[in-house]
Amino acid sequence: MSTTSPVRSRLSNPVPAEWHGPPGTIDPLDMATEQLRAVAERMGLEQNTFNMLAHFERTLKVAFPVRMDDGTIRIFEGYRVLHNTNRGPGKGGIRFHHDVTLNEVSAMAMLMTWKCALVDIPFGGAKGGVRCDVSAMSRNELERLTRRYTFEISPVIGPEIDIPAPDLNTSEQIMAWMMDTYSMGRGRTVLGVVTGKPITLGGSHGRRQSTARGCLVVILMALEKLGMSPAGARLVIQGFGNVGMNAALIAAREYGMSVVGAGDHKTSFCNPRGLDVAAMAEHAQRHGSLEGFTGDAESVTADELLLLDCDVLVPAAIAEQITVINAGRVSARVIAEAANGPTTPEADAVLNDRGILVLPDILANAGGVTVSYFEWVQDLQSFFWSEEQVNNQLRAIMSNAFDRVWSLAEKEKCDLRTAALMLGVNTIARAAELRGLYP
Ligand code: NAD
Repeated sequence: MSTTSPVRSRLSNPVPAEWHGPPGTIDPLDMATEQLRAVAERMGLEQNTFNMLAHFERTLKVAFPVRMDDGTIRIFEGYRVLHNTNRGPGKGGIRFHHDVTLNEVSAMAMLMTWKCALVDIPFGGAKGGVRCDVSAMSRNELERLTRRYTFEISPVIGPEIDIPAPDLNTSEQIMAWMMDTYSMGRGRTVLGVVTGKPITLGGSHGRRQSTARGCLVVILMALEKLGMSPAGARLVIQGFGNVGMNAALIAAREYGMSVVGAGDHKTSFCNPRGLDVAAMAEHAQRHGSLEGFTGDAESVTADELLLLDCDVLVPAAIAEQITVINAGRVSARVIAEAANGPTTPEADAVLNDRGILVLPDILANAGGVTVSYFEWVQDLQSFFWSEEQVNNQLRAIMSNAFDRVWSLAEKEKCDLRTAALMLGVNTIARAAELRGLYP
């Protein structure tokens, strides 16, 4: 009788364990659900309503192969999550990042629901992403990844279903590839399937600067409430991509503010007399980051950047940057959350105790989705607006939202995040109640 010796497998297990983000990070979905629970409690929402709002209407997880330039095939994992469509189709960005997780995308989809409701635009919340390292990919690889991901999620997106937009590491070019891929499958050009496109392809004037511009509208209103003048106000900006760079340029050029600190994932700089943000923007656009910038500026570490002496700190990069570790040492008077989820709940409590005014993400960065809404309207009507019209409408929506949040916070004696969430959640709860249950 022959004994068979065990065969050593050539193949390693191709399916990695579910990725939950870097060690030590807080689960963003727990954070978003806890925020919802706290405001639902405060508002006296019924358990049934809370249950409906805490769940997601649809979660799509895809794994797809992409041929790399060297001929190898890599499998990428991506998601598209739709939180709530009570008031209209889903809306939310797509991020390409090495730390993307399903829970992160889900949390952001939920925040998108409250954000759209807060600025009163007829969308629900959605979000998507692919876990990948764009810095290690060529343009051709990025295009193939974008097109295959778009194909995978195309059954669940569309101008009346769910409309993606740019987010971390997803540019106008990526939106153009998404629009083209979706359109090829439909046999006609469907401009309204994504927003944040180039202007020649149904994009909107002002969309590129819209998140930054909207953020500055609420910063100005907050400074006014605090009796502080915008002229000469000192800003520190973390993140120098679409949002951070445009915030720096608009703040300096249009409002006479002084950007005293700015940084990205590679390097950070400060100058108490004000950085030359135009030169920094030119460098970042040419080299893809601030690394190697040699203007009149001193190098600081990423941690030091957040603690620089300033009036307004604008986190415009990734989540969980202001934590219990640094919240006690932040010296800004105002924090404007251009990024999604940059402050942890524990840090929020420390900042509140210290009297630092936090303009919450669902208010401070709502300018992007607002102009995405304008872009979608323009695409559906095939009738395009001037930049002045876009900016005027954006200012009106942002200042209205700020006023409503500020008044509710005064009435409820609560922080601005709680007030903003209450307004968003209340709108959705009311919409759900009016629609009733099917069947
Ligand atoms: P982007 O990819 O254009 O830029 C991101 C910037 O953050 C880059 O400069 C990058 O170097 C920097 N960064 C990344 N990791 C960092 C780290 N660990 N430390 C410091 N800097 C880091 O992305 P974006 O579109 O500007 O988005 C920035 C943030 O704003 C994200 O949180 C996004 O969700 C949020 N946001 C964007 C929009 C939009 O319209 N683009 C709308 C609403 C919210």
